[in-house]
Amino acid sequence: MPILEAYDLYRFYHVGDSETLALRGVSLKVAPGEMVAVMGPSGSGKSTLLACLSGLDDPDGGAVDLLGRRLSRRPERERAAMRAATIGVLLQSGNLFAHLSIEQQVQLELRLAGKPVQPRLTEVLNQVGLAHRRHARPAQLSGGEAARAGLAVALAVAPPLLLADEPTAEVDAETEAQILGLFAAHRAAGGAALIVTHSEALAAHMDRVVRLRDGRIHAPSI
Ligand code: ADP
Repeated sequence: MPILEAYDLYRFYHVGDSETLALRGVSLKVAPGEMVAVMGPSGSGKSTLLACLSGLDDPDGGAVDLLGRRLSRRPERERAAMRAATIGVLLQSGNLFAHLSIEQQVQLELRLAGKPVQPRLTEVLNQVGLAHRRHARPAQLSGGEAARAGLAVALAVAPPLLLADEPTAEVDAETEAQILGLFAAHRAAGGAALIVTHSEALAAHMDRVVRLRDGRIHAPSI
């Protein structure tokens, strides 16, 4: 069974009299352990797709199944519970609480999931190269450190599926390498991912690339 399956997704935005067709019939599957990149020009619908796949937004047409259970068109509370059990989400708006240290945010994720804090806390902080910054809050971090901290939080509970929007946008080469290392560890642990990216280097580490154009899948390639 696919971990994630989307059927014929449509999403329209209305601003005044104008209508934007952000998604026009997108179908895709992610198998357990599969790593998929979503690429496409700005405005092609990538962020809208990710929001629908994570259940943070509801499509206007079509449906999303998570591990064979319908995720779309459910009350938000149920969607949140399904998301918490299966998906780590990293959106461009970030996923860090301003008033908590990096260590506290990872601890919080683990506690909410009912998982032991150690050894995972130390492991994930080491993987993102932030062990020495464990007591820093988001405002004290550089852009690259914040990107790694966000990913550490999204991957804290080793979710079966990671959904991430531009995790390497505006990071330097060293940070990108660390993030790639984190994806490699996620994959080695059997994790699946669907990652929106402009980075060909990142896409080259995925199993498959799905290309979006004007809200449609343009040319899926191996
Ligand atoms: P991408 O992530 O590929 O840049 P988006 O999913 O952000 O694409 O946007 C797809 C299209 O939908 C764009 O034309 C964008 O302007 C439009 N859009 C996205 N979000 C909204 C919104 N909240 N209201 C109106 N239009 C939107």
